[in-house]
Amino acid sequence: MTRRPYIVGNWKMHGTRAMLSEARAIDRAAQRHMKVEVALAPPFTLIHPIHREAEQISVGAQDCHQADGGAYTGDISAAMIADAGAKFVILGHSERRQGHGESDALVRSKARAALAAGLRIIMCCGETAQTRESGKAVAFVKKQLKASLPDPADTPADVAERITIAYEPIWAIGTGNVATTADIAEMHAAIRKLLIDLYGEEQGREVRILYGGSVKPENAAEIFAVPEVGGALVGGASLTADSFMGIALAAGEPSDH
Ligand code: PEP
Repeated sequence: MTRRPYIVGNWKMHGTRAMLSEARAIDRAAQRHMKVEVALAPPFTLIHPIHREAEQISVGAQDCHQADGGAYTGDISAAMIADAGAKFVILGHSERRQGHGESDALVRSKARAALAAGLRIIMCCGETAQTRESGKAVAFVKKQLKASLPDPADTPADVAERITIAYEPIWAIGTGNVATTADIAEMHAAIRKLLIDLYGEEQGREVRILYGGSVKPENAAEIFAVPEVGGALVGGASLTADSFMGIALAAGEPSDH
């Protein structure tokens, strides 16, 4: 079974209740594009309001804490976001790894907590421009991913349902620079091999690997035609229904692979 393309909007620290109309428009459009699975990760404050109204899209969070609860001022647990209506959580985004000093080990403990709370996870990985220029991007990403994902022994049997990978070269996020299709193909093939090594042929082959980094309606079709690209994690272009659904539409078009 090949899973539907997965298009996930990461609203980052954008959005007050005034953005609910945009989420509504995305939800309505998603009902007309059932070939694609559409999801939004708004700020924590909008998870419940969007979840309450959404009929088609799923809603997720952009982070969670690794503990179930306790004296962690300002943090929020996986169980809390699930209670607010989140079905998934983005983990290991480079803006958290870099801006909040999140290590692979910390990301892994968050992943364990999220899976235990019944959430799906979108595990991000990606190299800096310097690592790419040094020719070590593939080795770096494989090591980062292996150290950030929970041990296969701690992973639910339905891996492909619960885990999605997002390859996001850091130098492509929010910059307008997109990786070449050859570089995307090379990285996604390496990630696929790692997933099969970790989870076995059947589950490892089904896990969706998203590309992220300046995806827009104008470049989406070319990116989705790359083998092993199972969708996109979209930042800036997910803030309006027009541009976000332009990307979702491109994912629903038949491609050659
Ligand atoms: C992101 O933040 O995950 C992202 C890919 O951002 P953008 O689409 O704006 O590059």
